[in-house]
Amino acid sequence: MNKGQCLCGDVQWQLSAEPYMIFNCHCRMCQKVHGAAFGTYAFVKADQLKWLSNTKNVVNYQSSHKLTRSACNQCGSVVPYATNQPDTWVVPAGNHHQLRKPDYNIFIEDNAPWHTLNTDSPGCETYPDAADLLVVDGLPPVKECGLPESPLTGSCLCGDVTFEVSEPLKLARNCHCSRCRQGRSTAHACNGFTSFEAVTFTSGDDRLKSFKVPDARFFTQVFCKKCSSLLPRKDAERKISIIPLGSLDTDPGIKTGDHIFTDDKAGWYEITDELPQYNQSPPAPVA
Ligand SMILES: [Zn+2]
Ligand SMILES: [Zn+2]
Ligand SMILES: [Zn+2]
Repeated sequence: MNKGQCLCGDVQWQLSAEPYMIFNCHCRMCQKVHGAAFGTYAFVKADQLKWLSNTKNVVNYQSSHKLTRSACNQCGSVVPYATNQPDTWVVPAGNHHQLRKPDYNIFIEDNAPWHTLNTDSPGCETYPDAADLLVVDGLPPVKECGLPESPLTGSCLCGDVTFEVSEPLKLARNCHCSRCRQGRSTAHACNGFTSFEAVTFTSGDDRLKSFKVPDARFFTQVFCKKCSSLLPRKDAERKISIIPLGSLDTDPGIKTGDHIFTDDKAGWYEITDELPQYNQSPPAPVA
């Protein structure tokens, strides 16, 4: 049996069959929900998904008139939900270690300027023909970097939470640790780092919710209570801000520069780019 769970463990499920389709979706809505370059979804029939926990902590957000997404309201992880096709569910692959590699990269026309596209799976501009899914209206592309004259901006999917970043990002990296995979519900997190002071929430800071992994020193996930999109975390102790890059509406002007904690990498994901890889924590601390 192939078990999956959210970051906090309150929502658990298992798959009884091999998914009939798996893809990495690079659309801007998935970027925001996952705070990353893409979300990875495995498709199964309704009777192939069994809940192993109750689902009282599952919250739903209707992201378009054709699609309602679900997440854990304790930790912000994406959890399985029904699609707009009869009898069909999607399961976030980041919450599973063992699956086959994704069949496609989809919506690659929306690929973020800060992300180097993985070439291990064929790319499609929207959905592959085989998917037989309805294309939903997307979000506008990210704007060019306005720094230093104007700040970077970002927002959650529902738009209630907005923020600005007044300084350039110091660096950005792809993290494959198991907490990032479960929390972001995809292959890896894409995190940008800047100073504590640089990030200001311009609306909706009363909508922010955070979940700290109990046995972690720092690992805390910040998300919107309404749409569960991942949002920046201001870490007063380390005097840094960590920005899930998928939340940005402007190009930060740098790309993710390496892969870290690759010892924890999902079994179903191959790294195809030439970026440096570190099997554990990166060599230099974030300044
Ligand atoms: Zn949870
Ligand atoms: Zn998508
Ligand atoms: Zn929101």
